[in-house]
Amino acid sequence: MTTLPDAKLFINGQLRDATGGRTYDVISPWTGAPVGKAADATAEDVEAAIVAARNAFDNTDWSTNKEKRLALVKKYRELFEANREKLGALAVHEAGAALGAVDKAHVSMALGGWDDYLAVFDRVVWEKDYGNKFGYGYESKRVAHYEPVGVVAAITPWNVPLYVNIGKVVAALLAGCTVILKPAPDTPGAGAIFGELAKEAGFPDGVINVVFGADPALAGEMMVKDPRVDLVSFTGSTAVGKRIMEQGAPTLKRVFLELGGKSAKIVLDDSQNFAMDVLTTMLVFHAGQGCAVQSRLLVPESRYEEAKAILKQGYAGLGDNWGDVSNPEHIMGPVINKRQLERVLGYIQLGKDEGATLLHGGAARPDKGDGYFVEPTVFVDVTNDMRIAQEEIFGPVLVVIPYKDDEDAIRIANESAYGLSGGVSGSFDRAMKMAKRIRTGSVGVNNGMCIAGDIPFGGYKASGIGREWGVEGIEEFLETKMIAYPVAAA
Ligand code: NAP
Repeated sequence: MTTLPDAKLFINGQLRDATGGRTYDVISPWTGAPVGKAADATAEDVEAAIVAARNAFDNTDWSTNKEKRLALVKKYRELFEANREKLGALAVHEAGAALGAVDKAHVSMALGGWDDYLAVFDRVVWEKDYGNKFGYGYESKRVAHYEPVGVVAAITPWNVPLYVNIGKVVAALLAGCTVILKPAPDTPGAGAIFGELAKEAGFPDGVINVVFGADPALAGEMMVKDPRVDLVSFTGSTAVGKRIMEQGAPTLKRVFLELGGKSAKIVLDDSQNFAMDVLTTMLVFHAGQGCAVQSRLLVPESRYEEAKAILKQGYAGLGDNWGDVSNPEHIMGPVINKRQLERVLGYIQLGKDEGATLLHGGAARPDKGDGYFVEPTVFVDVTNDMRIAQEEIFGPVLVVIPYKDDEDAIRIANESAYGLSGGVSGSFDRAMKMAKRIRTGSVGVNNGMCIAGDIPFGGYKASGIGREWGVEGIEEFLETKMIAYPVAAA
């Protein structure tokens, strides 16, 4: 039986237990059994983390000493490299990643994103000369200075925890902010390692803090409401994102939100490789628990039956080749926890009740273990007004919707509360024209890849506010200060 190391809090430079020593069990999605223990932070611990981060921002040179922070963030990166194996084990046993998915979305992509941040750091603009202007009878020189926003609360989900934690923590540190990382309760180890390695790297006390606990929303809500926290960078569900905006309003908190999605992939009738374009939407990787997955497949009415046959064959070809923790070929494991399993099964029942046709899957698979296994599932004969087409299921459930023509496809893609990602495949000019009309933060044309650490990522509409990754991802953590002075004084 695998046992993960205890996940400790990291507050003001100290790796420590929660006040009072309370812990909670970390549950393996594969077995439903405890796989480790995590400190269960109290309000006192969260308060200490806020005080430490505030003090490190206000009373040290962290926010002004760019060279120092760049050097430390590079050293920190090397320590993560040396801990690849541990990061992989956390992805498998905390987040439920199958071995074939670990190196892709969990470890290599996350560390690659870190490298991308370091590579774009030189392109961050710290000062911009706006030239001179006459006003009130004299001429002023105006220069914008871009400064770190202050104390950042980074609140993250469980699906790709290392990737999301890096997306926030590294960008905030490079910008000169101090950080309190609050990972999801299911994946505390993927947060705790930021504390362990920060200690080893020798970060000044309070620059990085990590808190987590079993009590839903305790730490998150405290940080969102606290005036000493300047910015909340949140990735998670749209419902919690809205709550954060509400609860952050009294302190006019800056909020950055990466939320849910229900992205559409449009396959055009003139696709050069129709079968491949259809099959790339098979919602299997990491059991469909990705915010940007293309969970609505839109195919032309004229080729709908063909698409169904392709999918039927594709899923039959996958067969039972998923859900084995020891198989390095598998890219799909369980869903994260019992609540999520019940939620996914609830949506499958809803799809049947709404009149969609189950083409493949649809059942829980307790035979695969005592964890949270649900079959790769596809619904056809879906209309876009069904709840299974409108709501984020966050599981291995694909819905296939027919469309009449290009206008109809664009209408269906855009008739969604969400706007995170999407795709169009077909002849290039036509696909490009359609991509420009889809109201989402990213669109892959002919399976182009929109997710990488050197380009901005984020959502329209209910999928979020702001952009993570790339230079834009670092600049999210900067404030603009204009300084002007009479030219004669220069
Ligand atoms: P979630 O329930 O919204 O939780 C996310 C984080 O917020 C957790 O750390 C959670 O911890 C905390 N939280 C919950 N209530 C809070 C509150 N009132 N105030 C402050 N923090 C609070 O999301 P999840 O179930 O972990 O993750 C799945 C969701 O994440 C999906 O909707 C998915 O689309 C989204 N996601 C989006 C992206 C993106 O880039 N757009 C990427 C990955 C995932 P506690 O429960 O302990 O408070």
